[in-house]
Amino acid sequence: MTSEIISSKELSKADPVFGQNSFDDHEQIVFCNDKDTGLKAIIGIHNTVLGPALGGTRMWNYENEWAALNDVLRLSRGMTYKSAITGLNLGGGKAVIIGDAKTQKTPELMRRFGEFVHSLSGRYITAEDVGMATADMDTVREVTPYVTGISQNKGGAGNPSPITAYGVFMGMKAAAKFKFGSDVLEDKKVFVQGIGNVGEALVEHLSNEGAKVTIADISQERLEEVSSKYGVNIYNGSDIYSEAMDIYAPCALGATINDETIHKLQAKIIAGAANNQLAEENKHGRLLQERGIVYAPDFLINAGGIINVYAELENYDRQEIMRKTENIYNTTLEILENAQANAITTHEAAFSIARDRIDTRKRENSK
Ligand code: NAD
Repeated sequence: MTSEIISSKELSKADPVFGQNSFDDHEQIVFCNDKDTGLKAIIGIHNTVLGPALGGTRMWNYENEWAALNDVLRLSRGMTYKSAITGLNLGGGKAVIIGDAKTQKTPELMRRFGEFVHSLSGRYITAEDVGMATADMDTVREVTPYVTGISQNKGGAGNPSPITAYGVFMGMKAAAKFKFGSDVLEDKKVFVQGIGNVGEALVEHLSNEGAKVTIADISQERLEEVSSKYGVNIYNGSDIYSEAMDIYAPCALGATINDETIHKLQAKIIAGAANNQLAEENKHGRLLQERGIVYAPDFLINAGGIINVYAELENYDRQEIMRKTENIYNTTLEILENAQANAITTHEAAFSIARDRIDTRKRENSK
């Protein structure tokens, strides 16, 4: 018989899910496994007060299961607040598939994943995220209606990334207006880190406006492709955070603003597409505020993609999608002004508005 006295260290191991730092009262966490296809996935449903939990599926070669669980907990929570602040009637959810999207993603695996999504009866609706393409969502659609981001010829709104990039561009312009007094980005030195689906579309907007764009990516092939297409500079240094720049646009993965990078940052504005840019929202949000670096909250300015997929559920037309995405400019400006007026971080300002909307709906629902 094992000892009944468990040390606190062992106890924390004994609480691998609800005891995680990233756990934030998530409603449901579903672990999915299929031996035949090799599928190992986790679906996180953070909150469904405002509506079904909608959020993309990320396929990534995680270092271990802890990293995957941590990611799905953080990402699904972020979706709750993203939809809430954007005024959408959606809850927050996200899924991660553990594996290499380039070598391990098969139609069979995607269909099996779709069946797991279907088993949740609409509490979770999926879409694409890193490692996923519109074609993968079309495959998922073969087995469940609870999927968005499918091809236009199949009745969907298509790839959300250009809309996400447009929203980020709007948020960046609002941050420029706030910081520099003008939203014109011509001649502003902008570093775009990650030139995938969203990053490239952002580079296009920035180039059209005459910004001085530098791009960074782990893929040399992408760097050369995007650089020759838009005539932008490739970053060849080893520490992007220490570079002098006006705007840093994180468009790869999250948590790039952390204990190691925050003191080096030379940017005057941070505005990008990546989810969960602040490793620790309160701590790093405050440090940015102290340093006078304007942070346009990620979950606010990268909401174009969710607006686009929400349109599939609500039958919005293109004009309505663009109008809602363009409005990210006004919301961002309001939040930055509100944060300044109340001496709180921009993250806190955005978060409290989102939280209020959820709490109000919760009270209404329970009447
Ligand atoms: P993507 O997979 O198309 O692109 C990611 C790019 O980042 C790739 O080119 C990859 O090589 C690069 N990258 C990875 N690690 C890097 C590193 N350490 N340094 C530099 N580059 C690196 O993904 P995407 O759809 O463009 O999304 C980018 C980010 O925006 C993700 O964090 C995603 O969650 C977020 N986001 C995307 C959408 C959307 O509509 N696609 C919506 C909201 C948020």
